[in-house]
Formats: sequence, structure tokens, C-alpha cells
Amino acid sequence: MMRHNKSDVAVATISIPDRICELLRCFYTLGWCTASGGGISILSSDRSIAYVAPSGVQKERVQPTDIFALDAACAAPHSDMPLPSNPVLKMSECTPLFAEAYRFALPAPGAVLHSHALEVLMCTRLFQREFRSSEGLEMVKGLPGFSNEDEVVLPIVENTPVESELVGRVRAAILAYPQAHAVLVRNHGCYIWGTTWEKATTTAEALHYIFEATERLRASRALHSGPARTLLSIPHAHG
Ligand SMILES: [Zn+2]
Repeated sequence: MMRHNKSDVAVATISIPDRICELLRCFYTLGWCTASGGGISILSSDRSIAYVAPSGVQKERVQPTDIFALDAACAAPHSDMPLPSNPVLKMSECTPLFAEAYRFALPAPGAVLHSHALEVLMCTRLFQREFRSSEGLEMVKGLPGFSNEDEVVLPIVENTPVESELVGRVRAAILAYPQAHAVLVRNHGCYIWGTTWEKATTTAEALHYIFEATERLRASRALHSGPARTLLSIPHAHG
């Protein structure tokens, strides 16, 4: 069975646990969820159930019966839903961070993902407190509400030894940057959200592209900063 979104291609209707497994395999292939890191949470359409992947497992091998169904606050397993079939599994370490995005980000997210991609990590080393990109990239249109002439500004917070200890920093960053679709964590990765899982993943694809393009452009400018400059200097709205 297929359903049609207003502005999207037909998408096969599958359960949210099935969708999470499908997306985790994609994210693994993209390098976002390797070495058991990263993850995703999706809310049910009535926002009463938050589905999250288990912690510390190979994300590309997660099965639908491994997915946790939590209450809307991501605080405990949903009372009306079964626990994962494997009793050894634990909820994702990212769960409290997903909860922060659900609670404080606007417009209210329907899905939040966590990426450990190398291009994210590199940006957290190239920038101090904020990632900034104003290269006039067409891909910026992939961010809801943005045109290609807009500057992309995202907060970067410092990492902690335990992922759940990031809660206060991530919350403060979300509240301080209400236009942002993501929070970056130094030497670690990022949290990205969207009003639906489709918006969250397309936003994530656009941001990963922007991260890599920004890094390459900076590296190319540094390499060719002398008279033998080969990178075209393209004028754009934000200099
Ligand atoms: Zn992580």
C-alpha cells in the first residue's frame, strides 16, 4: 500500500519500527551511524508514542522487534506497548536528547536523528561556538524555510563523557537558536530534526552536504590562497 504526501512522491506505508530499521540501514551506508553510534526516533502520528532504536548495537542490523516504544516524554516504555523481544537491549543513549528536541524545538519535531558522520565532526573542529555557512549553495533550499541566499547558523556545544549528560547544553542551544534545525556536538556528531521523518532525513541530507561543501571550500581556499588561486570566488548575499 502506498500513500501520497501533498508535496512528496509515493511512500510505502510500513510500520514505524520497520521505517526506523530501513532508515538506520541508509544512515549506516552514509556513514552517519557506524560503529554502533548514531540513531533515530520517530513519533507516532498522534504524538503519543516515541519509537527509538536500542543502544550500543550495530544499527544496520536492528530489527523491528528491537525498537523501543516509549511514552511521549521518552521517559519510560509506553504502558500499552510491548517491550523489545530481546531483554538484553537498552534504550538508546540518545533518548534524553531526542526528548529535548521534541520538547523545545519549533515547529514541533515528529522525528529526530543523531549522526556521527565525519563531515559533522570536521565542522565542529573548524568552527568555535557556531557553524556558519553563507556560500550561496543551492542545497540550502533543502532546509525548511531557507533560500539559497540564507546563511546557515547552527550552535556547537562541548561534548561530555556520557551522552545523556549533554541534555542541559543541547536544551540551551535549541532555545538560543530557534531558527536552527540541528545542534552540533564537538568531536562527536549532531542532532537534527524535522516535523516528519521525511523532513528530518531530507534536512539531514542537506546539512551533511552543506557541512562537507563548506569544509572543502575552506580547504581549497587555504590551499590556493596564493597567486595560483584556482577556486572561483562566487559573489553571494552574505559576502
Ligand atoms: Zn552519539
